[in-house]
Amino acid sequence: MTPQVAYKHKVSHEWERAATLREVRTGRVDTDAVRDADFLLRAAATHHGVDSLRPCPLCGSTLRNTRWVYGEVLGRRAGSARSEKEIAEFVAEGLEFTVHTVEVCIACRWNHLLTSEVAYGKC
Ligand SMILES: [Zn+2]
Repeated sequence: MTPQVAYKHKVSHEWERAATLREVRTGRVDTDAVRDADFLLRAAATHHGVDSLRPCPLCGSTLRNTRWVYGEVLGRRAGSARSEKEIAEFVAEGLEFTVHTVEVCIACRWNHLLTSEVAYGKC
């Protein structure tokens, strides 16, 4: 039987996100400093991301949530953006690895880590 993708050790980074946005709104941090999504991040968001239900907090455009996978067990695949289908395939190999969900605004380059969690297969 193919195992289902399950997650554990989920850590939310909402608090840091809200704190960063507060700093921007009060002018203590320049907006340019947080609009730093590089080419790779934006390309990954375009090709592997899914639309977020939330608009960009800085410009109101549609955000793309992208899933990045990390872990030595992934070999060369570590540190790359992946679709849910690919994550399911890795889990089906019996692997357990970290998944970061990053929101990216392709329009203004705002980006922030939303959650980190460990993916594993549950039969
Ligand atoms: Zn934006």
